[in-house]
Amino acid sequence: MKGEPVTNDRSNDTNDTNDTSSFRPVASANAGSIMRARQLELGRAVAQDSRERSHPRPFEVYFHVPFCLRRCGYCDFNTYTATDLGEGASRGNFANLAVQDAIKLRRWQDDAGIPTVPASTVFFGGGTPTILPAKDLIKMLDTVRSVWGLEPGAEVTTEANPDTVDDRYIATLAEAGFTRISFGMQSAVPQVLRTLDRTHSQANVVAGVAAAEKYGLRSSVDLIYGAPGESVDQWCTSVEAALDLGVNHISAYALTLEPTTKMGRLVSSGRLASPDDDDEATKYEMVDSLLSTAGFEWYEISNWARNGEVSRHNLGYWRNAEWAGIGPGAHSHYGDMRAWDTKHPRMWAKQLHSGYIPWSGTERVNAVESVEETVMLGLRLHEGLSLRKVSEQRRKAQNEDAVASSDLGTQIAALRGLVGELSSEGLVEVVDAESLRIRPTLHGRLLNDLVIERVLDAMGN
Ligand code: SF4
Repeated sequence: MKGEPVTNDRSNDTNDTNDTSSFRPVASANAGSIMRARQLELGRAVAQDSRERSHPRPFEVYFHVPFCLRRCGYCDFNTYTATDLGEGASRGNFANLAVQDAIKLRRWQDDAGIPTVPASTVFFGGGTPTILPAKDLIKMLDTVRSVWGLEPGAEVTTEANPDTVDDRYIATLAEAGFTRISFGMQSAVPQVLRTLDRTHSQANVVAGVAAAEKYGLRSSVDLIYGAPGESVDQWCTSVEAALDLGVNHISAYALTLEPTTKMGRLVSSGRLASPDDDDEATKYEMVDSLLSTAGFEWYEISNWARNGEVSRHNLGYWRNAEWAGIGPGAHSHYGDMRAWDTKHPRMWAKQLHSGYIPWSGTERVNAVESVEETVMLGLRLHEGLSLRKVSEQRRKAQNEDAVASSDLGTQIAALRGLVGELSSEGLVEVVDAESLRIRPTLHGRLLNDLVIERVLDAMGN
């Protein structure tokens, strides 16, 4: 499953941080108090930034549940098939540990003076959250209610492997306030599901979506295209099967081949065909066309929705919301601070017992990095990105106002020239000429990295 749409590269438990609040787990007796002091110092800097910002950002909560029944051959997510990993990090105890993590985060916010607002969305990802009993997910959701509060009408989603939920499970979640389930369907074709090592069948997906509808939950399905041996016709069959479910949200991701996975090894030894860029581009165009015809609109490069049923949680990531990430390897994002929990559940649990937030690393992004993030995320969205606004933000953050008004004019002129070029190459369309708000065209979505690179170059990043 997709988990959080934030790079997981940093979550390798090395001390790969560059500020004083980062830490390497230390064995001394007072390690806990040293860590708490460092985390508090970092929190105070975040609080200062928040006070200087005029508008609070939406706040979201993400739980990473790092357990699966079996590892799919293509997956390199932070997930484990053992039921007990030591130090209390077992499936049965996971919810208790997640509750402790949430309480520690809130205490840190309060001690540092970071303003709190109720969560607008909660998302359970993994791993397979629904491998846990429904009561455990509810316990974690209730913790969000008591620790931060939940906005009225908050979106509460869990990812689900279709063969881990039944009617009763879904009814229990609905009763407890869950509003949405994201099913890992991936394909409707048995041969492709086998290639992907998936444990479910399409019949499980049909039953899951029907149960969700019966109890008033919105459903989404995730699809994967480009599995070795998958034909264009088979991909078409999967997209049509997803449409037949009657869901209003579909995500489609190109298969990413990770060399360390079982599939990666099979491909490198020549026993499986390598995914092909042209094939994946054809399949992307196909899903976009089939979904558009069925009344869906893309709102992010890999996500389509109709009747306004976008994933508010994921939109928050792309719009630079703030969020608390809870669970092994989960990322938190407060202002310009990024923090990531220790990746291995056993070490994560051990650090929780030591009394501090189980982060394995932290960093604060500077103005230039922040612009880079905003550009990379904003150019994935149908709503597009205002290049003028991003340029102005960058100048402001760098305190260059006086000298820079002429520089800013020069940069805006350069960006206007770039937008002209990108439009004439069919890579972007202009949503608003005055604010230089652009969005990628279909061609630009296929070549999104190139568009981002050219925009960042023109901004001098
Ligand atoms: S269900 Fe498969 S793809 Fe999803 S996290 Fe588990 S192992 Fe990975």
